Parts: sequence; structure tokens; C-alpha cells
Amino acid sequence: MHETPGEQRAGGGILGHVGGTPLVPLRRLAAGLAAPVLVKCEHLNPGGSVKDRIAVAIADDAEARGLLRPGMTIVEATAGNTGVGLALVAAARGYRLVCVLPEKMSADKRAALATLGAEVIVTPNAAPSHPDNFRRVAERLARERGWFLADQFNNPANVEVHARTTAAEILAQTGGVVGAFVAGAGTGGTITGVGRVLKRACPKVQVVLADPLGSGLAQWVESGALGPDGPYAVEGIGASEPPGNLDRTVIDAAERVSDEESFATARRLIAEEGLLVGGSAGTNVAAALRVAARGGLDGPVVTVLPDSWDRYRSKPWLQAQSR
Ligand code: PMP
Repeated sequence: MHETPGEQRAGGGILGHVGGTPLVPLRRLAAGLAAPVLVKCEHLNPGGSVKDRIAVAIADDAEARGLLRPGMTIVEATAGNTGVGLALVAAARGYRLVCVLPEKMSADKRAALATLGAEVIVTPNAAPSHPDNFRRVAERLARERGWFLADQFNNPANVEVHARTTAAEILAQTGGVVGAFVAGAGTGGTITGVGRVLKRACPKVQVVLADPLGSGLAQWVESGALGPDGPYAVEGIGASEPPGNLDRTVIDAAERVSDEESFATARRLIAEEGLLVGGSAGTNVAAALRVAARGGLDGPVVTVLPDSWDRYRSKPWLQAQSR
């Protein structure tokens, strides 16, 4: 469906199988709603998340521009999934990888990164202005040691790969008819890249941010002023500062979803649809179901299942499954 320079270099290796994910209808969760809900199965990427796409794209772009050269160290501030994607790239192409993770992120993600050969630095859950914040630590290490900062929050290669691949795949898989696109924002790469292309292709499409209750992004999207931030347990989305790659002008509305509703929906995706996903898929689908229930759309509601359940095995919300 698409071919990046990375795929050509991968010579048929696993990086050549990033993207091209299935788009499937929710048969039970969305039964009886005014519009069908189609989910993009990003958890089926080789590294288990949507972030494989940007890991390959950021490395390709940096190599092409001479910023990333053989033998160098890549450093990144990551909730874990970008780290796994970058670890696949680092292993395939011979880079060293250092990942800086906030304490909140699951032990499963830390263990996966270590198994993949990455070095992991865990930082306290500190505010963005604090020097111990995970993003500030990664920036400082890059500056002081001359490492390549992947910089998913600001790197335009993130938005660009979603516009070029994720959006193009969705248009091909829906015959070019999309009523609404719903996604949470961690870096904003998915919703900005896909949203921009869909707005051009389907002028009436509604682009909706799915935001955890406690994140300040929903209010920022609605009013331009960041909302108050509180604690929440869903990983990888929401923020207390707007990421550089989130363009609020492509977003029409925001839906706020509690941890409880996100995790309950993720458990239903697992048990009733056979979709083995993580918590942010629950946030996205909970918001998508509301949009589909309201109706008045020109086509199906499309959303994203960002990652796989395997990285949340130690989390109570997933263990509750077996009770
Ligand atoms: N869900 C999870 C679990 C993630 O790790 C991320 C990325 N941080 C997202 C959703 C959001 O994707 P994006 O960075 O493209 O906004």
C-alpha cells in the first residue's frame, strides 16, 4: 500500500510490515447505533502499536538528512510504545537506544524495552516545567551527549507519516467515505496527520479528540486555553501541555472519557470483539460510540486501536478480566 525508504532498506525484514493494518467493524459494541464504527487495528503492527509507523519514519527522515549516522545513540522520551518501535529500528539498523519513561508507565513496557536491548531511564511523574520531567531529561541528554533526539512531540515526520500512510489506508479501506474520525492525542501525530488528509478528502468529516478526563487537552482544543489537569491512569494520551504536533485547527470537537469508561470499554473490546488492545483503545472507542450514537454523519465513524494488551498485563484493569 505504501513504501518508505526504510522498507526498501529493510530488504523484506519486519520493518517492511509496519502499517497496512486491518480496518474492521465493531459488530457487537456498535450494534444498533446510527452509524457503523470501524477500528484501525494498530495493535497488530510488529511492535504492537501505532508508534512503529513513526519510529521508522523518524529514523528514515533523520538518516536522509544526515542527523542520524551509523553507530549513533537515539534518545527518546516515551510512554513506551515509541520506545518499542525505535528498539525494532535500532536492532535492525545497529543504533544504541536510550528511552526516558515517566514512572507512571507500566512495568510491562519497561521490561519489553529492556528485553529489546534498550537502556531505560525512569523519571518521577513531574510537571513539564520540572527538570526531572521525562521530556526535559531526554532533551538534556541529547544536548549534553550529542545523541539523536527522536522528538516525537515536535518532529514533523510523525504527522507526515500518518498523513501519507494511516490516512491513505483509511481512505482506501472505506472507499473514501468517512463520517467522523476519532482519536486521542499523545503527540497529536495521529489525529493531526489523519485529520488533515480526511478534511481534504471528505469535507464534511467530523474530527473528534478523545481525551481522558483529567487531561487539559479537551479544553485547549475547544477554547485555546489549557484546562486544569488532574491524575488519570490511561497511558499514552492526554497532556498537561499541548504537544507541538497537535494542530487544534483540524479538530471539530472533544469527548472526555473517564478512566473507568476507558478500561471498561477496553475490556469489552477484548471479551466481546476479540480485539486484544490497551486502555487508550478503550478511550477512543468509548468516544467513537458516542459520536456514532448521535448520528447525523455522512459515513462511518473511524477510530484507532493504538496498542496491544500485552503491555498492560500487570495492570489491575486488565487483571480484572480473569475474575
Ligand atoms: N495510545 C497509546 C497507548 C500511545 O502510546 C499513544 C502515543 N503516545 C497514543 C495513543 C497517541 O498517539 P499520538 O502520539 O499519535 O497522538
